Amino acid sequence: MATMRFFVLLALLIPLYAISVHLRPPSAEDVLDVHIIAHSHDDVGWLKTVDEYYTGFNQSIQDAGVQYILDAVTSALEDDPDRRFIYVEIAFFERWWRDQSEKKKASVRRLVKEGRFEFINGDEATTHYSGVIDQMTLGHQFLMKEFGVRPKIGWHVDPFGHAATQATLFSDMGFDAFFFGRIDYQEQKWRNDTREMEFIWRNSKSRGEKTDMWSHVLYASYSYLPGFAWEYGDEPIQDDPRLFRYNVRARADVFAELVRERAATVKHNRVLIPFGEDFQFEKALLNFRNMEKLMKFINGHPEYKMKLRYSTPSIYLQSVKESNPPFNIREGDFFPYADRDHAYWTGFYSSRPTLKLYARQMNGLAHASDKLFAAANFKPSTAEYRAAREKTSVMDDAYGIVQHHDALAGTEKLHVAEDYILRLSMGQHKVEEVVGQSLGKLMGAGGDFGFCHSLNESICEHTEDLNGTVAVTFYNPVAWQRSHFPRFPVTSTDVEVMDSDGQVQKAELFPNADDENKYDLVFVADIPPMGYATYFISSQKTDYTSLVTGVDIEGGLKLDNSEISLTFSDTTGRLDSATNLREGIELDVTLDYLWYNSSTGTSDNRQASGAYIFRPNGTYPISDVRPSITLYNGTLLKEVRQKLGPWLSHSIRLWQGTSVFEVENTVDTIDISDGLGKEISMKFSSSLQTDGKWSTDSMGVEMIERRRNVREWPFNITEPISWNYVPVNEAAYLSDSSTRLTLVVDRSRGCSSLEDGSIETMLQRRTLMDDRRGVGEPLNGTERVRSSTYVHVSSESTAAPTQRSVSLLINNPAVVAFRTVDSTSIPNGGIPFFSRTKRLVWSGIRALPQNLHVLNVRPLDDGTLLVRLHHLYEKDEHSVLSQPISVNLTEVFSSLKIASAQEVSLTANAKVEGSVTNVEIGPTETKTFLIRLKE
Ligand SMILES: [Zn+2]
Repeated sequence: MATMRFFVLLALLIPLYAISVHLRPPSAEDVLDVHIIAHSHDDVGWLKTVDEYYTGFNQSIQDAGVQYILDAVTSALEDDPDRRFIYVEIAFFERWWRDQSEKKKASVRRLVKEGRFEFINGDEATTHYSGVIDQMTLGHQFLMKEFGVRPKIGWHVDPFGHAATQATLFSDMGFDAFFFGRIDYQEQKWRNDTREMEFIWRNSKSRGEKTDMWSHVLYASYSYLPGFAWEYGDEPIQDDPRLFRYNVRARADVFAELVRERAATVKHNRVLIPFGEDFQFEKALLNFRNMEKLMKFINGHPEYKMKLRYSTPSIYLQSVKESNPPFNIREGDFFPYADRDHAYWTGFYSSRPTLKLYARQMNGLAHASDKLFAAANFKPSTAEYRAAREKTSVMDDAYGIVQHHDALAGTEKLHVAEDYILRLSMGQHKVEEVVGQSLGKLMGAGGDFGFCHSLNESICEHTEDLNGTVAVTFYNPVAWQRSHFPRFPVTSTDVEVMDSDGQVQKAELFPNADDENKYDLVFVADIPPMGYATYFISSQKTDYTSLVTGVDIEGGLKLDNSEISLTFSDTTGRLDSATNLREGIELDVTLDYLWYNSSTGTSDNRQASGAYIFRPNGTYPISDVRPSITLYNGTLLKEVRQKLGPWLSHSIRLWQGTSVFEVENTVDTIDISDGLGKEISMKFSSSLQTDGKWSTDSMGVEMIERRRNVREWPFNITEPISWNYVPVNEAAYLSDSSTRLTLVVDRSRGCSSLEDGSIETMLQRRTLMDDRRGVGEPLNGTERVRSSTYVHVSSESTAAPTQRSVSLLINNPAVVAFRTVDSTSIPNGGIPFFSRTKRLVWSGIRALPQNLHVLNVRPLDDGTLLVRLHHLYEKDEHSVLSQPISVNLTEVFSSLKIASAQEVSLTANAKVEGSVTNVEIGPTETKTFLIRLKE
């Protein structure tokens, strides 16, 4: 691959606000204050499952048992008051804690209180703000309950890049600092050389300096200094001259030299030395004893000009603050990450797409279930309340674990990915029981509801085996009225849909794309804000349900609804333009699919494409053949289906009254019989003049502008494609001065704009080799992946409302619950008896402004409700909707009688001063409250 050289003057890109820097390199007289940070990096599932890691099963895969680490570390700390240790992974700690005696718990509480055992926090990878807040809340609530402590430090030593929103969230959680390990190797070198390893991260355009985060990049990695990994078998320290192989001076010289190397990368005389590795400190004494011999020797010899001590990031930070050096400002995020030439970790953005989608959907379901459960108002003293909370905790646990950086990232072994999916699926079943229980109480109908888990695979027993009538209740977790288009598989054309007033609804049947014996039933369900509506589907003939049959189109095609018009080319048979009819904006835009050949290494560089790393070796079209066009021209839905290759097809859909079009692609098992690994991207190419720029979201909050082939430090480009890949979690767009092309995605993916006017996202990856970053397996994605992308063409000024609302609706899908209705209770042609006795339509909230999202309403065991409100827009994104929002909390929830309310920190572990009758929420801000209801 050709290597290009670019250099962009950094000074131009550092904001003018930056404090002027007068470097004072440590003089020879300075004594270095060396902070030894003992830690263990315990992945919550990677090569082994979370429970295997905890218990120590499967040692042949990896020698790791976290329970023994915690046993050993706490005992070693009890033995010596100078020792300190930091711990991150609450999922493991919580398992261990359950197992401890009261005596041991008292001892550990003392260690925590004295700052000798400190909890800090970690994890991020293709995450969404909603899930991260949930996971952190779970951990912080546990720590507050058991120890009365608030973590104040982010310690992301292993995640593969860092999202700006993560730093914003840490700030909102009251964190003082963020330590991380992995940034682009070229930026890291530049920062090392210029003493810029510590800086102020201005992480949000909207929040500005309010959420600034002091940040520290580890010098190399979170590992032991090389040669001092005693648990791995490095030479022990021998400091007794009476014994053979005395080596302490020689070892101390090496250690001191390594410390000095690190000292040269910061602006003060404090040095942070990580002391640990993955699953280390099972032999805590081996580590501590050797380090103590080294410390004793160095501290006893002033010629080393350094003092070593056990420390924690909090103590280090405090010490740095005392020296008060000036720090520069860093904006943006830390994607993409590369650890060397040809090794961009941009593959994991798209690895294991089904796990990424499932996790996102389960977060939506869990939030919906919480809201319903709160609305149903079960009393904490009752058995049904406790049973429901027990069920919810299964999902909480599963979802928290899946946030891990080797989980959602898709960089775990296959059997570990299956373990995550199993846990989520157990959580799903439990949470659905809570949904049923809550709906039953609200409807006065008992809790006997059924659910369909494979609707996107066209499987649903409740509608397929229709014999009589099924009641379908749709719950809308969003605080706006919503028109939902359900699509249910049915096996007969004799189907009628009725609303709760007994009005027969317009419905349409489309031949099912997966199974010729089925039809997709489509209708419109209107659901009130944070409420539900019930419809009835019956097996009977009706004129209101029509069958839409497919028509093969030979030439070109124009497809439109009231809002948008699409054209398909006469010659290529492919989409070639989209027009926003309301705004009169037409854009030439084509949709193509391509595959990258996964590199298996080249003669000059062995790096292969794999779970973490995307290294393409050539770009190819999926097919040059003109695809056939089959049109289904309904009223509620207009759909074009196209087969694009032996394992790729898509449907392009226009739903009635909507201004976005949906592209649903189906990637079946990718053919690798030609011996080539393949990574599949969907690419839109337009006439937009984009000047090398495009934008993608940061964890679903702010949009970050990306610039092709531009960095703020000296660089070489060794991988021109993958180094321009960044994650998209919610939305991406391209724009010129007048028009914007927006994509809203259903899950996190990799995204790039490799030429002006084009934007692509990666759908599935099937690589042949491991990429040698530890997982030890090729990423062999063989499952069928069905993904949806919602596309919008508009003016710049009207784009944001559509992007934000479509994203919100996708991430918070309507919950669909089925219930069989006894057909004998339906009078001839009339409303089912069921409908006349139950509360079929209900709303728990007055409709809120379009820029305000009720993120959580969650009952807590002390009888309070945890409520989070989130401003969906960023600063200057929209003239009206980006303005701060004022709400009166006591008026928002029409169904709740609020006795008192208190604003709290983001993870509800500290009180915050603020009004609750006049809450002001600024752009992108999330505010959290604890509400007590009247008895
Ligand atoms: Zn890790």
